[in-house]
Amino acid sequence: MSRFRHSRLQNLTPYTPGEQVKGSVIKLNTNESPYPPVLTPEDFQETMAELHRYPDPEALGLKKALAHHFAVKPSMVAVGNGSDELLHFAFMAYGDAREPISFPDITYGFYPVFAKLHGIAYEEVPLRQDFRLALEDYEGEGPVLIANPNAPTGLALSADSIRQFLDDNPRRLLIVDEAYGDFGAESVIPLTHEYANLLVIRTFSKGYGFAGGRLGVAVASLTLIDDLRAIQYSVNPYNVNALTQKAGELMLARQDEYEARWQELMKLRRRCQQELEKKGMTVLDSKANFLFAKKEGVPGRELYEALKAQGIYVRHFDQPRIKDYIRITIGTANDMEALLNALPF
Ligand SMILES: *Cc1c(COP(=O)(O)O)cnc(C)c1O
Repeated sequence: MSRFRHSRLQNLTPYTPGEQVKGSVIKLNTNESPYPPVLTPEDFQETMAELHRYPDPEALGLKKALAHHFAVKPSMVAVGNGSDELLHFAFMAYGDAREPISFPDITYGFYPVFAKLHGIAYEEVPLRQDFRLALEDYEGEGPVLIANPNAPTGLALSADSIRQFLDDNPRRLLIVDEAYGDFGAESVIPLTHEYANLLVIRTFSKGYGFAGGRLGVAVASLTLIDDLRAIQYSVNPYNVNALTQKAGELMLARQDEYEARWQELMKLRRRCQQELEKKGMTVLDSKANFLFAKKEGVPGRELYEALKAQGIYVRHFDQPRIKDYIRITIGTANDMEALLNALPF
């Protein structure tokens, strides 16, 4: 750290992404799709020829396609350079030193990083003993942020229980991060028509195999989208580049291929869960593209190391309550077979 750094940022603890290992390893550690997006170089020829121009800061073509896809108006959509950027915008827009923003004690590790970066007060609300997220535990007035399905547990809430919270708390902002919303959980996007205090965030990184392209989406009432736009135009009006805007439109036009992929993934997830259970593992019921599992008597770190020694990367979180677990991304059928064979029991 240089002596020039702002005093407020001297104790910054940045987010630690999963290892991006290269070479002939089986990578089941960052919840990427094992398949590339349904895109070809030819798709981008026209866009390439226009790259000397700035992209459309409103990304109107893409927003129209997204609006059609999610059955909302284009004015209810914002896009970002990955959903991390939109989450960051949301922390900037709604984080407040007076009322803490609340999120679960076990969830996406980026949330506390954004809060600390901006000096935003936050409260970590413990998940229940069985890792269930109970919205009735969120007392107070400040914004609430949940991932649904949650990470790294994979457990999902029903749309009805989220609706109940919105009905009970009409004056509280609820942000629902649906990063894993393509794999069988109920989406609350339809509720954005009814509730002006609901902000939903999605990503193309997981379901669409577009993590490297960086495209996130926010869906909410007009007034909330206006807040995000104000931040966007104060940080980087051109936050989504022209190639990524084009890619987003094309991926939505090829939605059928993705739906088929997701069906296959869900089947493989079920099979893999059964196999892990046969090996004596405890596996949470996941609605995401990963499984969260433990083996009684074997520390998670040991499992992680044993798999890594065989070239299979999973994610282990060295944090209270979940030390014994590993998070396994659903890869190809071959990847999952290799994983099952590599387990040391
Ligand atoms: C992966 C993930 C994100 C980030 O997605 P990007 O669009 O790649 O930035 C956000 N939230 C959760 C819960 C995630 O797992």
